Amino acid sequence: MSVCVAGDYLSSEVKVVVCCYTIKETVFYSKGWYVSVQNELYFDRAHWKHNDTNLVSLTIFQCLIKGSEVKWLGSREFKCNARRTTFFHLYNRMLLKILLGFLCGAAARQGPPPLLLVSFDGFRADYLQRFPMPNLKLLYSQGVLVEELTSVFVTKTFPNHYTLVTGLYTESHGIVANIMYDPVSKSYFQVGKNNTPWWWEEAEPLWITALDSGYKTAGVMWPGSELAIRNRTPTYFCPYDSDVTFQQRVELVTKWIQGDEKEEGVMFAALYWEEPDRSGHFYGPDNTTAMAKVLKEVDDNIGLLVSELKRTGLWGHINVLIVSDHGMSQCSAERLIQLDDCIHPDSYTLVDLAPVTAIIPHSDPKTMVDLLNECHAHITAYLKEDIPERFHYRNNIRIQPIIVVADDGWTIVQHGNVLPHSQ
Ligand SMILES: [Zn+2]
Repeated sequence: MSVCVAGDYLSSEVKVVVCCYTIKETVFYSKGWYVSVQNELYFDRAHWKHNDTNLVSLTIFQCLIKGSEVKWLGSREFKCNARRTTFFHLYNRMLLKILLGFLCGAAARQGPPPLLLVSFDGFRADYLQRFPMPNLKLLYSQGVLVEELTSVFVTKTFPNHYTLVTGLYTESHGIVANIMYDPVSKSYFQVGKNNTPWWWEEAEPLWITALDSGYKTAGVMWPGSELAIRNRTPTYFCPYDSDVTFQQRVELVTKWIQGDEKEEGVMFAALYWEEPDRSGHFYGPDNTTAMAKVLKEVDDNIGLLVSELKRTGLWGHINVLIVSDHGMSQCSAERLIQLDDCIHPDSYTLVDLAPVTAIIPHSDPKTMVDLLNECHAHITAYLKEDIPERFHYRNNIRIQPIIVVADDGWTIVQHGNVLPHSQ
């Protein structure tokens, strides 16, 4: 089911920020899109660890969380204008709680607005130019569009979603790929399997940080949000289930944000939707007919989100941040690199294959790296210690001794000529 809503979306107090992803899943400098509505949120950021990231996204979060206004100076420049001190926010918050004690009911909420973070997986920036997207364009036309956002390496779903809620590069938050091997515990991680909290505990996601500030939080299928990370989950969460529609997810999250007579609403909620990534993997981002269909659905979902926020009275009283995690490149059966043509299958253990191949060599790593680099013009193999600084991808034991990166549009396979559909 989809609902399109035309007309006046934004009240005058609402601010919108949008960023767009351009490149692909197979390389590192993806541009992403990013939307924010309204301008303030009150969180105590004492536990925030962010000293190794330069993400626009994190800075936006910082602005919002500090209760600052985001001032956009250009496509990549902005500053936070401090409004009130954190102490003042918390003081107001206390007063608000006392006041609510008398007034009762979610409708009486008058304090800082909650923040809803929404991710549309794998939304490539040029989709915005190639397809109509009227609801999204209407949303950001009255706010701010951020045209560039750098994905973290590797540009996969789980690493980038955890970056969005921790502000950390993958080497710092520990979700270094969708498939990982930890040599100390000798255990494997794969999306959809063995997803225990331990893998996520090298960092603290925002829904936990906000709990420490006395706020309720929620996660609807956002990677990691269903787990007791450092023994705590968000106040409310909903594990991943592809059968749950976008409308059902939105209804759930708006109910939690609203609260009721007994329960105060959540102040931070993260909502995940798996399109257009799923269709992009299946049809390829260059398949205009198929992608037009799914992007119409994505845009309808944005209309539905705004409609639901209006129906529940949250519109105009909530910050909404719409993001994606990475872009996507067109692959081809004509552009395959067969690992078996380069190194003997018995000479290594394969941890992850695409888009960044992670290898544990059984003998001298340097010899294997040289073999790989001489083997094919469209791959670059790195010893772990030689991985370029700009990837921020060295300092974690879950990063394997050798990684192999294919050029844009090329796909590494182990053998055969079948193009995999990876997630
Ligand atoms: Zn993704």
